[in-house]
Amino acid sequence: GAKRDDDIRFRFFEPGMQARVQERRQLVADLHLALDRGEFELHYQPLVELVQNRIIGFEALVRWRHPVRGLVPPDAFIPLAEETGLIEPLGKWILFKACNDAIAWPPDIKVAVNLSVVQFAKGDLPGTVAAALAGAGLMPRRLELEITESLLLHENEATLATLRKLREHGVSISMDDFGIGYSSLSYIAKFPFDKVKIDRSFVAAASSQRRGGAAIIRAVAELCGSLGITTTAEGIETLDQLQQVVSLGCSEGQGYFFAPPRPLADIAALFNSWSQSDHSMH
Ligand code: C2E
Ligand code: MG
Ligand code: MG
Ligand code: MG
Repeated sequence: GAKRDDDIRFRFFEPGMQARVQERRQLVADLHLALDRGEFELHYQPLVELVQNRIIGFEALVRWRHPVRGLVPPDAFIPLAEETGLIEPLGKWILFKACNDAIAWPPDIKVAVNLSVVQFAKGDLPGTVAAALAGAGLMPRRLELEITESLLLHENEATLATLRKLREHGVSISMDDFGIGYSSLSYIAKFPFDKVKIDRSFVAAASSQRRGGAAIIRAVAELCGSLGITTTAEGIETLDQLQQVVSLGCSEGQGYFFAPPRPLADIAALFNSWSQSDHSMH
């Protein structure tokens, strides 16, 4: 109707709007070239078994080394890649690169890869994952795939079938950022996840005594424990938070307290210099 047209025209001529539209168009154009130009990198952050303080794996986190903008974080381009369909080839590149990187690590060290919902909707995800593993010669049990609850929000038979097929291949599935958005405890029981990663907002809330944080972590850890699911606390930044999440029942953790995400080249040094005393809880 007329009202709606007016609104759009108004928004379009809002000061700064045109500049933003232009900027976004440029970013999308650059994004289309970035894969061929080799501008994406994977950085890795250690996943730590908390009681023994042992690195059990690394999460791959993509970055875009833009020739002008510098290192662009995923939140600034993953949504654009999803909207433009570029997430398909980019997601494939990420899977293959992560598997190829992980093959150089000790054989008990895993690699975790984030998946976009769009990768489930299009193409043959189980086929791509199998090809990435076979191409690198990586054992399926060394690959963890992280999905968010938004995938289960639009839950359908095809999604569940894909998740089951991935697990049948021997790959493990983690629920990422649990607790924010629309995630509910019933998702944990509905699908056999191998791991639930509790969002860092709860870890922060637990240590600041904000109401609910600790209670939610305890409830999730208890439910997961009874179902044989590992719980990871995300975003551990302080010793206090580490002690909190351990006492609340989390067995694994990740966060700046241990190490930030680092380029691949730094991983061997990080791994070799890792010592129990550095991150001790006592
Ligand atoms: P995520 O999977 O939940 O990854 C954890 C994010 O928290 C990372 O941000 C990491 O750098 C950050 N982080 C780790 N420890 C701490 C901490 O102690 N404190 C705080 N404040 N933050 C911490 P990053 O790398 O910017 O990634 C953001 C999100 O982008 C990821 O959240 C994930 O959803 C998405 N993403 C990253 N890489 C990929 C990818 O390869 N594919 C897809 N589809 N999504 C990706
Ligand atoms: Mg993740
Ligand atoms: Mg997360
Ligand atoms: Mg996140």
